[in-house]
Amino acid sequence: MQILRTAGEMRNASRAAQRGQQRLGFVPTMGALHEGHLSLVRAARKHCESVIASIFVNPTQFGPNEDFGKYPRTFERDCELLRNEGVAVVFAPPVEEIYPPDAATWVTVDGLSDRLCGRSRPGHFRGVTTVVNKLFNIVEPDQAFFGQKDAAQVAILKRMVQDLRLPVEIVVCPIVREPDGLAMSSRNAYLSPGERTSALILSRTLQDMERRFRDGETNVSALIAMAKKTFASEPNVRLDYLEIVDPDTLQTLGVLDRPALVAIAAFAGSTRLIDNLIVR
Ligand code: AMP
Repeated sequence: MQILRTAGEMRNASRAAQRGQQRLGFVPTMGALHEGHLSLVRAARKHCESVIASIFVNPTQFGPNEDFGKYPRTFERDCELLRNEGVAVVFAPPVEEIYPPDAATWVTVDGLSDRLCGRSRPGHFRGVTTVVNKLFNIVEPDQAFFGQKDAAQVAILKRMVQDLRLPVEIVVCPIVREPDGLAMSSRNAYLSPGERTSALILSRTLQDMERRFRDGETNVSALIAMAKKTFASEPNVRLDYLEIVDPDTLQTLGVLDRPALVAIAAFAGSTRLIDNLIVR
């Protein structure tokens, strides 16, 4: 497995693989890898002959009071895991390689970027779309693999690829959960044992909503009101948002007459967690 640090080296490696007729699968990550990330790598291995993973904690997607400085960095262990999964190349650039000091260009998906997490984290999605665009330009993958865990991110990146006519296919993979239902996240490492238990209220609330939907409730306000009540049974977790939206436009829905994204974000202590489910 190669570990590459510069855009030039990365592009040369990609082009050499493509000359060898290999389909390139790309898995962008911020490291601190867990089974959720590895599920993306396995999907990429299934679809593509050569898999490239990036490890880059992207400063521009963190707000000024967020956890960029303390975000878990476990590079050696991450490389070991990726090697065991048969990854061909890890692209791990320093910040200046992606953001030279005079960089002045941003990629923004208007509208969508201000919904869900974009409302609570202004500028977050602009950081995501900018870095993913740069990574796509450097790696030139055929397919790129993202987790449904970050449902708004998926909608925004699909729109970016469509609008900018980028020659890459976005493949979305299911949420990987702990056995008790908690969605895996690098940020789960911040949780104290008490917070870890309280955090289960996110997946429980979603399950509860799905049950009520299956029982015939299709009125969005009624479902949200019931879910907020369930959520309030856990006083140690503070709700940021709980919304039912169109999975592509992220616009709020009034009735559940088509597939819908139920998305939740909440704070357990100072740790912000997200989870979601698609109801059909
Ligand atoms: P991150 O390192 O948090 O930026 O995540 C990198 C990629 O892994 C993104 O596409 C995430 O959606 C995906 N991912 C993170 N957690 C999970 C999970 N629990 N299940 C599936 N994919 C995930």
